[in-house]
Amino acid sequence: MRVLVTGGAGFIGSHYVRQVLSGQYPTLSEADVVVLDKLTYAGSEANLAPVADSPRLRFVRGDICDAVLTRELMHGTDLVVHFAAESHVDRSIAGSTDFVVTNVVGTQTLLQAALEAGVGRFVHVSTDEVYGSIEEGSWTEDHVLEPNSPYSASKAASDLLARSFHRTHGLPVCVTRCSNNYGPYQFPEKVIPLFVTNLLDGGQVPLYGDGLNVRDWLHVDDHCRGIQLVADGGRPGEVYNIGGGTELTNRELTERLLAAVGAGWDRVRPVEDRKGHDRRYSVDISKISTELGYRPQVDFDAGLADTVRWYSEHRSWWEPLKDRAALVER
Ligand code: NAD
Repeated sequence: MRVLVTGGAGFIGSHYVRQVLSGQYPTLSEADVVVLDKLTYAGSEANLAPVADSPRLRFVRGDICDAVLTRELMHGTDLVVHFAAESHVDRSIAGSTDFVVTNVVGTQTLLQAALEAGVGRFVHVSTDEVYGSIEEGSWTEDHVLEPNSPYSASKAASDLLARSFHRTHGLPVCVTRCSNNYGPYQFPEKVIPLFVTNLLDGGQVPLYGDGLNVRDWLHVDDHCRGIQLVADGGRPGEVYNIGGGTELTNRELTERLLAAVGAGWDRVRPVEDRKGHDRRYSVDISKISTELGYRPQVDFDAGLADTVRWYSEHRSWWEPLKDRAALVER
């Protein structure tokens, strides 16, 4: 059994690789893992340090847009779990070329290589942001796609390419759409690690607009478990939402983070709202729950406390990354 994990040196991909190699998934307990990662500003081999000595791990630095390399790596691959992407909304507002190239062309390149190699299963990891913004209720998987940022538009395009490779060619692709992830090893440009590391450094945190945008929070551990359920038992051609079940406004999240480090509201700096800022995301997870038995297991307060503790104990991991994150503030 061989698994190709793209973006396996990023936040979620590296978590998945560490889980696979530590034997968390019975179906992959003896699988070899090939990580394909370009090591952009967001990727780091340090994220794989806990499993770097595993004889089952092979790391390949390369680009998912490289047709020759992807064809070579697909040969003999049973399962592809595709995480690699440009993933930060604010960067896509500042400039979207890399987003289209990696997220759209890169995904198409992988799908084509997987088709030619006849891989048994391809899981395309996507986002709830492809649905747009929802005032009330929750999205089911058949909801129309109305992405609002260049990031989410590029992910929606990649989802549709995945769908087309199933409908046209019969490639056994599943798409997962998750809500906002949190946990250790998240690059300190995303809101939770940005705020935590700023607070640990004695600084302020930038809160967008009125702070009332709502996000559903999903621990990376639960997300990866959901992905594996889909890899093991998802129906080819289907889309599965994966959520965490804790909806918070950004103000509420900020209050919890301030409390976690014993800081007050004076550490919050209101900033002009993000352009096109989606008001609320909310996924309906009935499908993956009913079909595959998914349920989030990590309690949000406990997960957040563990995450804050991890950042406080791993300064040597995030301090060098803060400079890399400085291109745009959040
Ligand atoms: P990340 O930015 O932490 O990691 C992305 C990884 O992809 C990095 O290691 C980077 O080096 C690699 N990469 C980028 N371009 C590449 C290329 N052209 N070729 C090869 N490797 C490349 O992202 P993440 O937060 O771990 O997200 C992983 C996936 O999950 C993405 O597809 C993202 O859209 C999706 N997602 C993330 C979240 C979240 O909350 N983080 C939410 C929903 C969906």
